[in-house]
Amino acid sequence: MKKTERAAHIQEQLAERYPDPPIPLDHTDPFTLLVAVLLSAQCTDKKVNEITPALFRAGGTPEAMSKLGVEAILEIIRPLGLAPQKAKAIDGLSRRLIDVYDSQVPDSFEALESLPGVGHKTASVVMAQAFGHPAFPVDTHIHRLAQRWGLTDGRSVKQTEQDLKRLFPRESWNELHLQIIFYGREFCTARGCDGTKCPLCRELYPRRRSPVVHRKA
Ligand code: SF4
Repeated sequence: MKKTERAAHIQEQLAERYPDPPIPLDHTDPFTLLVAVLLSAQCTDKKVNEITPALFRAGGTPEAMSKLGVEAILEIIRPLGLAPQKAKAIDGLSRRLIDVYDSQVPDSFEALESLPGVGHKTASVVMAQAFGHPAFPVDTHIHRLAQRWGLTDGRSVKQTEQDLKRLFPRESWNELHLQIIFYGREFCTARGCDGTKCPLCRELYPRRRSPVVHRKA
């Protein structure tokens, strides 16, 4: 199969398996989504969803969050990884939203990436899931699956994003990103795989015999 044929086959299979993938991080608006995505770095969505109800009860808007301050935010999010850095970033981005963006989350990559603690992946998730703009956020999981499926050589996360955007139609990016995440969680985890255990890989690579090696993000 050529790369474009593999991509089309994967898209078809994922659409069948996950026809309407939900957004995994609980939120009520762009601000709470932005904070939840920031909290999810090096942490599971499940753990983030356990913490955010208390955080958003106390700080559900940029004003309320900035009134809480770094110490109180840290107290609530302490069970999550990288909590001190995340508390500082949430406080900083809340203040910047108030000062520069009239307390609204901006819907542009440039403005989002100018906020404390917000990188390209976080901005991509917010652009896609809060505003419906086409984006392809690539995290370590998508980076791994794209390599195992032969859609990229995995030189870098940036390269993987470019390759996936080239291979899949723009209007499918937002949904596909979620579908790949769900497939990765269910079947294609970070633990080693011989590249033959799923029907999907057997169809893509009927002659594959040796384990797939992937580069880390
Ligand atoms: S066979 Fe392995 S690499 Fe292929 S989809 Fe399944 S878990 Fe992932």
